[in-house]
Amino acid sequence: MICLVLGIFAGLFQSAFSGASERTFVAIKPDGVQRHLVGEIIRRFERKGLQLVGLKLLQASEELLKEHYIALRDRPFYSRLVKYMSSGPVVAMVWQGLDVVKTVRTMIGETNPADSRPGTIRGDFCVEVSKNVIHGSDSVESARQEISLWFR
Ligand code: ADP
Repeated sequence: MICLVLGIFAGLFQSAFSGASERTFVAIKPDGVQRHLVGEIIRRFERKGLQLVGLKLLQASEELLKEHYIALRDRPFYSRLVKYMSSGPVVAMVWQGLDVVKTVRTMIGETNPADSRPGTIRGDFCVEVSKNVIHGSDSVESARQEISLWFR
C-alpha cells in the first residue's frame, strides 16, 4: 500500500516537473471543420504522442473571439478574422505533453501557409493566410489564458 502511494506520488512529481503536464489550446477553425480535417489533425497529434485532455465543438460568439484575438485588435484584418472565426463551428481542444506548446506550433507550421513546410498542417492543407485551418497557442502563458477563456 505504501509502495503504491509512493509510486503514484513519484509519477505525479515526475509529470509535474518534467514538463509532461504542459498544456496548450488548439482550435480547428471553421474551414478545417467544413473540410473534414478534424480526424486527420487529431490523428497527427495522437500519433506524435500528445494527450487529448479536452474537446468540444462549438459556434464561438463574436465576444469570445474578440477576446481571444485581443492582441490583434489594431491589425487591419481583425474584424474579418473575428467574422470568419464565427462563420461556423470550431473544434476547441486542450492537448497535454512534454513541450506541447512548442511541439504543436511546429506541427502547425507558419501563420502564412506559403511559408509553411510540407509535413506541417498548414503546409499540407491550405494556401490562404485568412483560412489557415488551425490555431495553436504561442506560449505557455497564452495557452493558460486561452484554455480558461474557451473552457470556462
Ligand atoms: P498564428 O495563428 O500563426 O499564431 P497570428 O496570431 O499572427 O498567427 O494571427 C492570428 C490569425 O490571424 C492567423 O492564424 C490568421 O488566421 C489571421 N491572420 C494573420 N495575418 C493575417 C493577414 N495578413 N491577413 C489575414 N489574416 C491574417
